[in-house]
Amino acid sequence: MRFRSTLERRNTVTITSNSAPCTKRRITLRTPGYVDGVSVELPVVVVTGASPGKKLVVVATQHGREVNGPAAVYRALQNLNPEEMTGEIIFFPVANPPCIRMQVQDFPMDRNRALKTGPEHNPMNLNRQWPGDPDGSLPQRIAHAIWNAGLQDADCVLDLHCWGATTTALAWGQQEAEPFVTAFGFPWFQVHDRKAAQPGMLESACAEQGIPCVVCEMTPQNVVAPEMVEHGRRGILNLASHLGILPGSPEHPHPRYQIDQGTAISAVQRLVSSMTATCQSGSGFHAAANPLPPTHESYFDPSMLKMKW
Ligand SMILES: [Zn+2]
Repeated sequence: MRFRSTLERRNTVTITSNSAPCTKRRITLRTPGYVDGVSVELPVVVVTGASPGKKLVVVATQHGREVNGPAAVYRALQNLNPEEMTGEIIFFPVANPPCIRMQVQDFPMDRNRALKTGPEHNPMNLNRQWPGDPDGSLPQRIAHAIWNAGLQDADCVLDLHCWGATTTALAWGQQEAEPFVTAFGFPWFQVHDRKAAQPGMLESACAEQGIPCVVCEMTPQNVVAPEMVEHGRRGILNLASHLGILPGSPEHPHPRYQIDQGTAISAVQRLVSSMTATCQSGSGFHAAANPLPPTHESYFDPSMLKMKW
């Protein structure tokens, strides 16, 4: 058992140290085995440029209903030519394979969590486990495996999520990450004035290490919304440009709205709780938060799991 664990940890090191120039590699990252023998295998895609440079890490699907993130990663990968790149981008397109397969948010397959982020749900929520624990619960082992494989020396981390349909889409980062939030270019964004979010969130772990982290909620869940996928795809490429990994400058073709932290949170709470008049379609906030009405949504199709990273 110890030997296997050592092997697996050694495998994680190869992700960051053995990439040849001008390559696009798929790697399978495996967590240390659980006490009952269960482990989780995660897809990883490493795109390495022609010469050394900055490192961008993209994490998607910490929660199983949040499928716009991997769709955006898929699109961005189609646009990346390693020969045009300086530096490296590491993608973890499905950080939570068991939960995306079951279309549930958390371990162990908690079907009922809907915006319940209180402490009682935290042990099952992957985004409360960072930077993880190799000897802990399965979510803690996943967080540890990803963190050690690619995040701890990143120049920027992008964490892709999807809120439910009753909330607005939003990208944010803490003050130190403001240039990255701006470069990301999501139409609705926010800069936090507090040092960290809840303990154990990926953005909190990044903040403690001084790593700029951009979080994006690509509303809604369980469906692939092309507008969100396109915003996410462009955002990934924008961050790469901002870091000098890709040539050129970030592109911001849409109007952008910086939303005050307190205003956005209260509006989201109102939307979730009662859909009050101030948030109905056509109101000022709704117009500002959703200037681009959805044109098409396709419900989650399991064949999406066959996408080749
Ligand atoms: Zn999430």
